[in-house]
Amino acid sequence: MAQYTPMIEQYLKVKEGAKDAFLFFRLGDFYEMFFEDAILASKELEITLTGREGGGAEKIPMCGVPYHAAEGYIQRLIEKGYKVAICEQLEDASVTKGMVKRDIVRVVTPGTVMDGKIIADKSNNYLVCVTESDGMMALAACDLTTGELYVTSVLSGAEWLRDEIGIYEPAEIIGDPTLLELLRSETPLLAKPVVYTPWEKREEELARRQFGEAAWVRLEKERGQCLALLISYLNETQRRSMGQLSQISPYEPGNYMILDPFTRRNLELTETVRERSKKGSLLWLLDHTETSMGARLLRRRIDKPLLQRAPIERRLEAVDYLYNQFIVREDLRLALKEIYDLERLVGRIAFGSANGRDMNALKLSLAQIPALKELCKTSGSSTLREIGASMDECAEIREDIDRAIVEDAPVSVRDGGIIRSGYHARLDELREASSNGKRWIAELEAKERQATGIKSLKIGYNKIFGYFIEITKSNLASLPEGRYERKQTLANAERFVTPELKEKEALILEAQDKMTDLEYSLFTELRDRISGQIPRLQNLAEKVAEIDVYQCLAAVSAEHRFVKPVLSDGYDLRLEGGRHPVVEAVLKDSAFIANGSTLSKEDGNILLITGPNMAGKSTYMRQVALICIMAQIGCFVPATSAEVPLIDRIFTRIGAADDLIGGQSTFMVEMADIQVMTEKATARSLIIIDELGRGTSTSEGMAIAQAVIEYVHDTISCKALVSTHFHELAHLEESLKGLKNYSMAVQESGDKVNFLRKLVPGAADSSYGIYCARLAGLPEGIIDRAYGLLQSIEQAAHPGGSSIHYGGGLESQAAAKEVATTSIQQPDSVIAETSGIPADSYSSIADEVV
Ligand code: ADP
Repeated sequence: MAQYTPMIEQYLKVKEGAKDAFLFFRLGDFYEMFFEDAILASKELEITLTGREGGGAEKIPMCGVPYHAAEGYIQRLIEKGYKVAICEQLEDASVTKGMVKRDIVRVVTPGTVMDGKIIADKSNNYLVCVTESDGMMALAACDLTTGELYVTSVLSGAEWLRDEIGIYEPAEIIGDPTLLELLRSETPLLAKPVVYTPWEKREEELARRQFGEAAWVRLEKERGQCLALLISYLNETQRRSMGQLSQISPYEPGNYMILDPFTRRNLELTETVRERSKKGSLLWLLDHTETSMGARLLRRRIDKPLLQRAPIERRLEAVDYLYNQFIVREDLRLALKEIYDLERLVGRIAFGSANGRDMNALKLSLAQIPALKELCKTSGSSTLREIGASMDECAEIREDIDRAIVEDAPVSVRDGGIIRSGYHARLDELREASSNGKRWIAELEAKERQATGIKSLKIGYNKIFGYFIEITKSNLASLPEGRYERKQTLANAERFVTPELKEKEALILEAQDKMTDLEYSLFTELRDRISGQIPRLQNLAEKVAEIDVYQCLAAVSAEHRFVKPVLSDGYDLRLEGGRHPVVEAVLKDSAFIANGSTLSKEDGNILLITGPNMAGKSTYMRQVALICIMAQIGCFVPATSAEVPLIDRIFTRIGAADDLIGGQSTFMVEMADIQVMTEKATARSLIIIDELGRGTSTSEGMAIAQAVIEYVHDTISCKALVSTHFHELAHLEESLKGLKNYSMAVQESGDKVNFLRKLVPGAADSSYGIYCARLAGLPEGIIDRAYGLLQSIEQAAHPGGSSIHYGGGLESQAAAKEVATTSIQQPDSVIAETSGIPADSYSSIADEVV
């Protein structure tokens, strides 16, 4: 057993309390790490590993970072998914005999970090807590930086938990170890790496105090337990008050459309599938918010579309008004532009890390509120008027800051220069005393120059000697002997002092010390006063965010010619001139081709869509889903007219996510998705399946596809869009009343295929697979052989039947003409009907080619 020095013993004792974290152990101006921590940290942070005698036989591995630069190192470790416990000296080393007391003051974890790169302006950093008891599952999600705290629960369901976690994309999940284990295997799709921290300590008393008795008793039991677990973890890691977490936002999962992580990704709601970037997502298209709060709220709304008409109508009403009122929208935008991130400012105030600049940012933000409020109150929108009327301007907070803090506040809150004159009598006195002293010194300089006749005599100051009178060597001779006390000799000057000068110096320095101390305490008093008003400020922030979202959605809707959807409690979905908002926005030269959609009991609730690759099938199917989501978040939609029923859940089974799940075969993944769908979908759901039945043998795949379609048709009866390359499935139209065949029109001329991106009734005859092979440059020999084989296979399947494959075997002009006519001209009227494009403009495209 090694005999360590007292300091290492102390280190080891503190380290006991932070086993899963790096311990930053404060030694003077450094944070030091020892043992395993040091070895790992030196690698992760690329800092030098040294050793230190610690009493044991061998040197103890050690590395350290200067305390003033620690923030950056801590952030780097957090970004890598580590935790950092910060251990400070709790006593002044210069006055303590023996060992200075040290203890952990805070544990920084990925879910509780307050600043740094990880905290992006426009997104949240969530810590999620999960619990399960008596068959109930509860989830609490909090963002310490913004003070948001959501809590919800359901009657069990690991899937639900997975879906919900997918929405928060937490940096850290805490909770019961077995539940965490389950989640770890269930959530492979999170964009950011997540840290799992098993945590079982639950302190109800702490939670009661945190939220107040009134709020506490209103909570359902399992939600309270979940919050108690969360608060106990925060208390353990933060070790300070968390005034920003004052309001709980409970919600019922049943009030929102359910979007599982696959669907959210497939539809590219907040990030793209491939780059996992915001750019190219629906959020990216819609986000014209002016404030960070607005951006975060917009994202939350996209993540949680509503299920009830009334609140959606309320949102649409505001968007509709602003859509038509360009000037009001612009005025709102100009006011919003000047508003800082109130939620994060409030978070820093509560945390005790806000400085003078933060206070001024709060002041400037609050200064915009009266204008914002007025614009809302006088608007023609009842939603905005209601928001305006309930806005608390927090004017006295603004005045308080304005009285106290100078315009150009310094970064540091410890060095003075932060409080205005006239704010505090004693501070003014001290300032007066200090400036009197300085004036006295200036006068002394003038007086002494006169008295000695030495023009270059000057009074200077440095930290070591204080104030001094300096006379250059060449003038020393004219100085009367004994006039001053000699203090210091320099190469070409002598420095002197006088008792009077020393006396004044003491006064000035004392005043300055007192001044900075007093300024600091005046500042913290102000900060504490504002801390007491946090709920008001948070409330205000919510209103600002909401206004911002409305102006943003109105602006985007106007820019992209979206229309107000008509919501219905019925079943039917009818879109005219529907477009995919993002694909349309990024298409540069070519215009997006609009397509209608009718999904109804009468005209068919399942569309079976065939057509070659690249024809536009999946774009079309996604656009229908996106339009439903946009409508249900309260946004206008990309269509010329839209009647949208409330969809309770969207399922997507779209190819692109396949490659993301390592180890599992495409087919297994597809089947697992379909299983969930059969279990969860209701008649109010929307199902989207792209390329059903791939990944197994043709006959099996086709059999499964047919069985699934029949199940959706007969048992679920929901709206569904299904694309398939099994053209043979087209016959289902005869047996399933609710199924209609459609295809994406394609036009051929010579050896070119023209994708018309038009949805037309009827199934496509061929998938153009061999044609695509030719386009890709496969040798003609292979192509010819493939056509030959295809012909004999099809003849075997339909003996005696005649079939035209306008997929590529076209040799003559006549055949080409025939195909173009059948595929385009014949469904002209229907195309026009579904899309809203005049029939004649459409057939002219066909004529041109033919
Ligand atoms: P499929 O699913 O049939 O293979 P996609 O839906 O992926 O085809 O569409 C292929 C490409 O065609 C898209 O990336 C898009 O650029 C373009 N596209 C799709 N639909 C349209 C449309 N309606 N108008 C214009 N371009 C479209």
